[in-house]
Amino acid sequence: MFKNCIVECDKPRDECGVFGIYSPGLDVARLTYYGLYALQHRGQESAGIAVADGSRIQLHKGMGLASEVFSHENLDSFQGYIGVGHVRYSTTGTSNLVNAQPLVFRCSRGMIGLAHNGNLTNVNELRSQLFLNGSVFQSSTDSEVIVNLIARYSQGSLVDSIIKTMIDIRGAYSLVILTEKSLIGVRDPYGFRPLCLGRKGDAYVLASESCALDTVGAEFIRDVEPGEIIVIDKKGLTSRKVLQGSRKAHCIFEYIYLARPDTSMDGFNVNKVRREMGRQLAREYPVDADIVIPVPDSGKTAAWGFALESGMAYEEGLMKNRYIGRTFIQPVQSSRDLGVKLKLNPVRDVLEGKKVVVVDDSIVRGTTSGKIVNMVRECGAKEVHFCLSSPPIIKSCYYGIDTSNRGELIAASKNLEEIRKYIGADGLHYLSLQGLLDVFGDQQGNFCTACFSGDYPVGVPDDVVNGKYALE
Ligand code: SF4
Repeated sequence: MFKNCIVECDKPRDECGVFGIYSPGLDVARLTYYGLYALQHRGQESAGIAVADGSRIQLHKGMGLASEVFSHENLDSFQGYIGVGHVRYSTTGTSNLVNAQPLVFRCSRGMIGLAHNGNLTNVNELRSQLFLNGSVFQSSTDSEVIVNLIARYSQGSLVDSIIKTMIDIRGAYSLVILTEKSLIGVRDPYGFRPLCLGRKGDAYVLASESCALDTVGAEFIRDVEPGEIIVIDKKGLTSRKVLQGSRKAHCIFEYIYLARPDTSMDGFNVNKVRREMGRQLAREYPVDADIVIPVPDSGKTAAWGFALESGMAYEEGLMKNRYIGRTFIQPVQSSRDLGVKLKLNPVRDVLEGKKVVVVDDSIVRGTTSGKIVNMVRECGAKEVHFCLSSPPIIKSCYYGIDTSNRGELIAASKNLEEIRKYIGADGLHYLSLQGLLDVFGDQQGNFCTACFSGDYPVGVPDDVVNGKYALE
């Protein structure tokens, strides 16, 4: 989506959001649509909904936002009591309709629909094996590898097939699957990507984030456990914990930037965590300044925490234009600063003559940060200190987040002083990795920090590190 964007381009991007509902008696298509609406920040390239009525599955998907893909007419045309939805931003597979999800397929057990959030790390090896055994692929997504494996393991129950598939696949996956008569939720053994369970009367809901449960009026029950399979059908809900990773490895970047602040996941509220990150940042960098301003919206909560801890005034020194959408036309190169000014406008009255701390969540390439520093300085700020509520991103993510490849990551090739000079700030401070982990107290061993530390919880083969995917 953000090919023409200004600020968000220089951020890591989530790959997908998933949603599922089992509810005889409710309009599951509309509730799924509203669930996707709440998860739209997790993917804007395509959206899709599949609905089952006990004997067949209907599917509608398209390119664009959920609001662009669905109309009253096509929501009205769905009939059934089980719904699964997906919003997608591609990190593997190209951006086109065939890669949009849910993927719906027919196998020996009837029709099945699958929505996937995450990336598999052994996808090339598995796809090559499946090719040799005669499988055909329509899309270039790793999700289709999962589909093929489930279909191939045709002995025993569907849950048996899913367990065998889970043994084969490695990496990150939160899956929401619908059959003609049931809804199934699956989370990988490390719990990289979030998935939670909720209840709305007699209905059960599965969603990437709890904010989607709130939106459809469902009550949060719990997170799906790493390695757990949940099956919901006419007999109710059954759960099996089938695989265990060597440890939990929830993506810590969900808390820094990706998830919505009103979401709680794996025991922590995102807003509260971000505020604590800001407090920790202020303790680590006790700078002599007058005001703290956020880069909206990504730096807001951390800036607030920084202000609370430091005692400095919190001000809105950068105003965001909320009406620049996906169709925004990037200004030509000759006016390269115009782009960021169209998106963010500095408030001279707030900034002039002040020593300013600017708080953002992260720097990927550093291009936008430099423009923001310049903009604040041009408004008369005496000093500009740039503070990040995350450690430097030095490695790529292979578990479903587009952090850009390593060559584009400014912190992979420049040290702190070089980055400070590059963005033109008087001071630059990143939250330390230990400071970040301390926010999670005695749970700090349960997180993936690979993009900051290089400590990958699940090994990544060289072909994937080198960016090669079998069908691309
Ligand atoms: Fe999240 Fe970074 Fe781990 Fe990827 S590498 S799962 S972005 S913490």
